[in-house]
Amino acid sequence: VLIPLLGLGLAVYFYSGPGNFSEEMLRGKRVIVTGASSGIGEQMAYHLARMGAHVLLTARTEAKLQKVVEKCLDLGAASARYVSGSMESTAFAEEVVKEAENIWGGLDMLILNHIGRSFFDFFNGDVDHVRKLMETNFLSYVAMTTSALPMLKESEGNIVVVSSVSGKVASPFVAPYSATKFALEGFFSSLRHEFIIEKVNVSITLCILGYINTENAVQMVSHIIKEAPAPKEECALEIIRSGALRQRELHYPASTVTPTLLLRDLAPEFLDGLIRNNMRVENIKRP
Ligand code: NDP
Repeated sequence: VLIPLLGLGLAVYFYSGPGNFSEEMLRGKRVIVTGASSGIGEQMAYHLARMGAHVLLTARTEAKLQKVVEKCLDLGAASARYVSGSMESTAFAEEVVKEAENIWGGLDMLILNHIGRSFFDFFNGDVDHVRKLMETNFLSYVAMTTSALPMLKESEGNIVVVSSVSGKVASPFVAPYSATKFALEGFFSSLRHEFIIEKVNVSITLCILGYINTENAVQMVSHIIKEAPAPKEECALEIIRSGALRQRELHYPASTVTPTLLLRDLAPEFLDGLIRNNMRVENIKRP
C-alpha cells in the first residue's frame, strides 16, 4: 500500500512543486516575517536579506532581533528593521502592520510564522493555556491579515501561513497546538475562496511542515519522535519560494508530509497507528 502511495505523493509534489522560481522575485519586495528571532523565521529573514528584500522582523526578544537585523544587513537586505512585542495581544499584531505602512507605505508579502510556547505532553485540562495559544497562534494571524489586506490588495501580494502536519492530522500530546493549526486552515481556506469570488489578487499559501530541526522543536520532541528532522535552512527557502510562486500549499519535507496527507483520507485508522508507532510514548511522563 505504502509504495504506490509514496509514488503518487511524489508525483503530486513535483506537479505542484517548485516551478519557475527566481530569487530576483524578492528583490526590493517589502516583507514582514513574524517569529523571526529564531528557528525557521530567522532563516527566512536571512534568505530574504540575501535576495535583496526589505524586511520587518518581529518576535518578543529584542536582543535576538537586533542580532538577526544586523546579519540581514550584512547579507545584503535592502533594509532591515524589527519591532519587538508579544502576539498574545492583537493590538501588537496590528501595530507591526502599522509600522510597515509607516516605513514603506505598502507591503508585498506577509509571512505569519510565530508560535507561542506550548508543551509536548498529555493535555492537562488547562483551558487558559488553550485560549492564550489560540490568541498567539491564530487570532494574531487573523488580526495581521486584516490590517495588512489594504496594502496587499494594492501590491497584489502574498500571505504565507506557516502551519504544520498537526494542522491537518491529529497526533497525541499536542492538543492545544493542533487546535490552533487546524483553525488556521479553516480560516485561511475560507478567505481564499472569498478572494477568488471578489477577484482580490492576493495569494494565500498554507505551509504544511513536518519535523524541522529548529532548536526549540528538537529540544521538545527529539526524545519522543523517532524520525530525523529536516533542515530549517532549506525549509525556510521552500516557504519563501512557495509564497512567491503563489502556491496554494507547501508540503515540506514532501517525502513524509504528502504521503501522510494521502493516508489521512484513504486509511485514517492505519495512519493513526503509524503516528503512535513513530513515537517513544514511554518517554512521556504520565499525568
Ligand atoms: P521557534 O520556536 O524556533 O520560533 C518561534 C518564534 O516565535 C520565535 O522567534 C519566538 O521568539 C516567537 N514567539 C514565541 N512566542 C511569541 C509570542 N508570544 N509573541 C510573538 N512571537 C513569539 O519555532 P520554529 O521555527 O520551530 O517554528 C516556526 C513555525 O513552523 C511555527 O509556526 C511552527 O508551528 C511551524 N512548524 C515547525 C515545526 C518544527 O518541527 N520546527 C513543525 C511543524 C510546523 P521570542 O521567543 O523572541 O518571542
